[in-house]
Amino acid sequence: RERVREILSSVTGRSDNRLGVEAMEIFDAYGVPTPEGAVVDDPVEAERVAEGIGEEVVMKIVSPDILHKSDIGGVKVGVPVAEVADAYEDLVSRARNYQPDATILGVQVQELIDLDDGVETIVGSHTDPQFGPLVMFGLGGVFVEIMEDTTFRLAPVGRDEAAEMTEEIDAAPLLRGARGREAVDIDAVVDAVRRVSQLVADFPSIVELDVNPLVATPDGVRAVDLRLTVD
Ligand code: ADP
Ligand code: MG
Repeated sequence: RERVREILSSVTGRSDNRLGVEAMEIFDAYGVPTPEGAVVDDPVEAERVAEGIGEEVVMKIVSPDILHKSDIGGVKVGVPVAEVADAYEDLVSRARNYQPDATILGVQVQELIDLDDGVETIVGSHTDPQFGPLVMFGLGGVFVEIMEDTTFRLAPVGRDEAAEMTEEIDAAPLLRGARGREAVDIDAVVDAVRRVSQLVADFPSIVELDVNPLVATPDGVRAVDLRLTVD
């Protein structure tokens, strides 16, 4: 709790009141699993981190000026360790091309989550002026705006309510293993929705939050991409 408060207050008064990778620690504190990884600011360090993670990693540009990283080619999935240093330079130059004066904090090197048996879901929240904090669950990934398969509740939700949310979206059969696919770990999804809803209920200063995607696999969930707006 105290640590979360510290991280959140570090943002207030900053010209941009958003948190991305810094929010990973908040999720750790609330027991929502995040992928292994770190943010680095040079290619050698990127390689070192990648070696500690596995044969292939995911790399993402970290910049407060770039909200949708994949739109500018700022996400590389499945980079072999030997190519990590080159990928680092490439990500930075893509960001520079997109916006020459962008603040670039570095590159996030992340554990590669196997999406073959996985489903990209979204967990989000915003504050309704009348009802207060709402929690949202739905189908996630880069097509989330096109699909619009989401459901909402007042935060916080308990286990039963969170379970209901995972049952009522159109994509629910996907989570339960349609067409010979293995089912994802639904309990882990329910738990993540419940914990995120508790986080936003505990901290009203979080006016908006997006976990997109929360990757759900048969082995559990991982909050892979976070965005948080603090008032
Ligand atoms: P953004 O939403 O800013 O474009 P994301 O971090 O969400 O950036 O990455 C975009 C997409 O890349 C995700 O929706 C997912 O399909 C894939 N991806 C991102 N991180 C990972 C990861 N650690 N493992 C596997 N796939 C990933
Ligand atoms: Mg995303």
